[in-house]
Amino acid sequence: MVEHAGAAVAHAQVRVDLAAIRGNVAELRARAGSAQVMAVVKADGYGHGLVQAARAAQAGGATWLGTAVLTEALALRAAGVGGRLMAWLCAPGERWTDALAADVDVSASATWAVDEIAAAARETGRVARLHLKVDTGLGRSGATQADWPALVDHALKAQAEGVLEVVGLWSHFAIADAPYHPVNTAQIEAFQSAVALAEARGARPEVRHLANSAATLMLPHTHFDLVRAGLAVYGLSPVPDLAAPPDVGLRQAMSVHARLALTKRVPAGSGVSYGHFYVTDKETTLGLVPLGYADGVPRHGSGGDGGPGAPVLVGGKVRRVAGRVCMDQFVVDLGDDDVRAGDDVVLFGDGVGGEPTAQDWAQACRTISYEIVTRFAPRLPRVYTGAEEDRA
Ligand SMILES: *Cc1c(COP(=O)(O)O)cnc(C)c1O
Repeated sequence: MVEHAGAAVAHAQVRVDLAAIRGNVAELRARAGSAQVMAVVKADGYGHGLVQAARAAQAGGATWLGTAVLTEALALRAAGVGGRLMAWLCAPGERWTDALAADVDVSASATWAVDEIAAAARETGRVARLHLKVDTGLGRSGATQADWPALVDHALKAQAEGVLEVVGLWSHFAIADAPYHPVNTAQIEAFQSAVALAEARGARPEVRHLANSAATLMLPHTHFDLVRAGLAVYGLSPVPDLAAPPDVGLRQAMSVHARLALTKRVPAGSGVSYGHFYVTDKETTLGLVPLGYADGVPRHGSGGDGGPGAPVLVGGKVRRVAGRVCMDQFVVDLGDDDVRAGDDVVLFGDGVGGEPTAQDWAQACRTISYEIVTRFAPRLPRVYTGAEEDRA
């Protein structure tokens, strides 16, 4: 559901500041120097909205968009989003002809993928734009260095036939969030060798790309021709131990808001929420927040169950989740403050108003901010502010 700012405030909503996304991409562009910026908009634009995030990123200067699965790339094209677009996570029997018809760049980590893509190109009469992926140490997708020469030769043979063009050579970091880790150096060297080997065999790639957000910010010598930035586009820090978003010129785009559904006075010794893992230590006011794990609020943010509970801003103060996060709701302990049903609750935002950030939630839930922002459910309305057309 998409609402516009100013529409009746729902009991809970995710707000996305598109101006922050534009500004973040402009910052990444400046940092990327001569390299182009691919804004990664997989997973519904990291929960911010696929098409809205893509358009804002393009307005900020991203010349490429990237998705994991092909359906996301096809959804972008169906919405009329142009520009270079790459989808990299494919399985045998992928809808390759749809990819080629929609002008989506594709990737191969194995010769079977090259064969399927070449077959789709013959069928459609379109020349596929192919990126070859080498595994330089993540141990996820990509050809092993042992299999790389055969993959390159296989693709170049299909290129000679005219059915595809090897436009990209690429890989992905395992530990760029620890920029000084020796594995990064090993991966960079492995990537350079893989590129040199492919070029020696005749590849003439348009783009060589390796850097994610962390490497874009912290490892400038890994920018090559294109950086693939995801998390930083949304104003979150991929290196939270080293830099908060403002330290690297970024601003968090997402904030999550609710209105208290109910407040009530309860005596000392009252058990709160399932399992009674939180028990009031004095007479107090409890506030009910109409958001739960089915909305994407992690149950790991529960309080009183071995942890302090994730932070929320209510009535000008940061409070903690009291007791278990339920499917649709959770409770906060408001003490003796004059807070009432209908008052605003901010789970997290950019922090400027004193509210917690997505990173604060990640820390409280012992996870990463990526997981916090990507999990909000479709039933929560997304409200967009800062659209370009709103600018006076
Ligand atoms: C998700 C992803 C990215 C973006 O990673 P961030 O850490 O969010 O910048 C880049 N490349 C690939 C292959 C990815 O899967």
